Amino acid sequence: MSKYIIIYMIYNAIGNLFSKNSHPKNEANIFMNKISTKILLFAFTSFLILLLISTAMGLKNMSEMNQRMNSLLNNRVVQTDLLQTMRNYARARTMALHHVVAMEDPFMMDEELINFSNLAGKWIKTKDELMTFDLDDNVREMLDKLYKNGGVIAVAQRRVIQLAKENKHKEASMMLMHKVMPEQDKVMLLYDNILTYQKEKSIEEYNTSKSEYNKAVNYVFLITFFLILAGVIIAVYVIRQNHLTGKRIKEDKEKIEYFAFHDVLTGLPNRRLLMDRLQQEVGHSKRLKNCGAVLFIDVDKFKTLNDSLGHKIGDELICQIGERILQAQRTDDTVSRLGGDEFVIVYPAISNHLNTAINVAERMANKTREILSEPYILDKREYSITVSIGITILENGSQSPDELLKFSDAALYEAKNAGRNQVRFYEKSMQEIADRRLSTEQDIRASLSKGHFYLNYQPQVNRYNQLVGIESLVRWQHPDKGIVSPSNFIPIAEESGLIIPLGMEIFDNICLLLQKLEKIELPETFTSVSVNISPKQFAQPDFVEFIIDKIFEYEINPAYLMLEITEGMLLHNIEDIIKKMKKLKEVSVKFSIDDFGTGYSSMQYLQLLPLDELKIDQSFIKDVDTNRHNAAIVETFIAIANNLNLSLVAEGVEKEEQKIFLEKHGCHCYQGYLIEKPITEKLLIEKYFNHNIN
Ligand code: C2E
Ligand code: MG
Ligand code: MG
Repeated sequence: MSKYIIIYMIYNAIGNLFSKNSHPKNEANIFMNKISTKILLFAFTSFLILLLISTAMGLKNMSEMNQRMNSLLNNRVVQTDLLQTMRNYARARTMALHHVVAMEDPFMMDEELINFSNLAGKWIKTKDELMTFDLDDNVREMLDKLYKNGGVIAVAQRRVIQLAKENKHKEASMMLMHKVMPEQDKVMLLYDNILTYQKEKSIEEYNTSKSEYNKAVNYVFLITFFLILAGVIIAVYVIRQNHLTGKRIKEDKEKIEYFAFHDVLTGLPNRRLLMDRLQQEVGHSKRLKNCGAVLFIDVDKFKTLNDSLGHKIGDELICQIGERILQAQRTDDTVSRLGGDEFVIVYPAISNHLNTAINVAERMANKTREILSEPYILDKREYSITVSIGITILENGSQSPDELLKFSDAALYEAKNAGRNQVRFYEKSMQEIADRRLSTEQDIRASLSKGHFYLNYQPQVNRYNQLVGIESLVRWQHPDKGIVSPSNFIPIAEESGLIIPLGMEIFDNICLLLQKLEKIELPETFTSVSVNISPKQFAQPDFVEFIIDKIFEYEINPAYLMLEITEGMLLHNIEDIIKKMKKLKEVSVKFSIDDFGTGYSSMQYLQLLPLDELKIDQSFIKDVDTNRHNAAIVETFIAIANNLNLSLVAEGVEKEEQKIFLEKHGCHCYQGYLIEKPITEKLLIEKYFNHNIN
């Protein structure tokens, strides 16, 4: 019985295990649990009842068998015993009769006769006892025969006794031998037959009882087996049911949870999740003091499209739009659908600088706008759409999620008003920055290969004011605005990718200068012409090939070429950078780290790079003679350069005091207004190479 209780407990434990997976508050789950508990209880109650019945029946059967077998065997044994005793008494009487016949002495004969009659009494008593049993018919028949023969013997015995008493011993002996003994033998044979019969019957009854007992045992085993089987089947069924229900509830719950935060049509985050993410981003932006952006996208004239194409195709279009937007973004960005044809993108932590954030947001918006305006295949036909986008910059977490959404929606309205297929910022000032950026980008494109970009050069000198090198600094002769400073257009060229063609143009100019310098006598101290290389330029897969090709094309000495790279560039893909630098190093091109100290380059990185020079950023030089903190930093830079065996150039040297400080502490190369401002090529050659160019 206890094994069933254990199964029941395991059963319950498994049931509980499954039900723990599901939500306790889930009504369906509670309902299902109630059902499975009921099934469980019902199954086990039925189980117990069946088990009790089967056990009771089995026990009853077995005890009956036992009783019957015992009584049968007992009866037979007693009967056989009694028969055996009767047989012995009969034999003893015959023996006693022999003694009577043999006795001459009348006293002794009397004694023997008393014994003879006592034996008869005992025989009768035993016989009476035997007759009280419910005797088998065969036994009864055989006994009747035996009694009949006994009667015949008794008559003959009496005759023998009479003859013996009359002292006719010889006749008595003759009578005994020829009359009594043959009859006695017959009776003994009958006794033997009955005993043999009894023995056989006992064996037969024992076998019958044994087989019935075995049947009963088998019956109990069979019932128990089927009960266990039924129990296992019920258990497996309930466990499986419970498991399936648990799984279904879990899936349903996940689905419910998923669609509580996602749009059913596109699977994108819905308004609820969007507000959540916006809330998070506002918090991050406030804490980290950075800027992100919120883009509100709306399909132009979607309603007309939806009405004419039908809602099914309209839905398909929305799905494809959602997919395209999602694919165009980074993994950290949130793309959500507010409903209808409205999508919102959240760009977290674009930059710490507002202007960069504005530029990046606008570029991303235009990229998204272009991607979405590419044709769609809907129901085997091609369709094109345009979208309008409103942007709000998430600035240092100063706006709430609701405001961000409201402002970008308002900006979207402006974009629609401006004729659709437009990108608009909510804040006027931001729109102006974006507009300016866009027009600068267009102007750069227009100015390329028109000679509007030219180079100025700023000398670098040693402590004896001898020319050591020059740095090329690009200038833009804008058709309307006059000369534009690189800080106003290089970042835009960099972000828009225009730095690549511009960089090529600049490099051509450098090569032309180097060609010219080849032809004139250079000061002995002069070592290099430095060129600023932007990270995007350096990251070009064919950057190394480009430089080497140019060296061959212009037939210039690469040993005079110093490429200035920035620390920020070293943060990503350092292995690739080292590989490229090493390849260029093989053809004698030199490398310098520009604006050193403003980035995060570690000594470990610096040791890995095949460098020639460090340029201390002008921000450290500005007050190096008065600010102890900056003085200490500069001293450290000098130590680093010495340790790594690199040349060191101080940028932005404007005052004599700065130069004196630097010289005193071991920095012997200077660039800055104190020596010279960036000058034209003509002036450079005339003044520093003592050569006149017409
Ligand atoms: P940079 O490479 O660190 O260039 C040094 C900047 O400091 C130059 O500004 C230079 O005119 C200015 N400068 C030099 N001496 C002094 C001084 O004593 N006092 C002060 N206050 N400024 C000094 P510029 O020419 O406006 O260039 C600004 C930045 O634009 C450069 O910084 C460089 O990062 C970038 N740039 C300039 N030309 C190119 C170019 O051809 N290609 C690329 N990719 N970037 C360039
Ligand atoms: Mg530079
Ligand atoms: Mg610099």
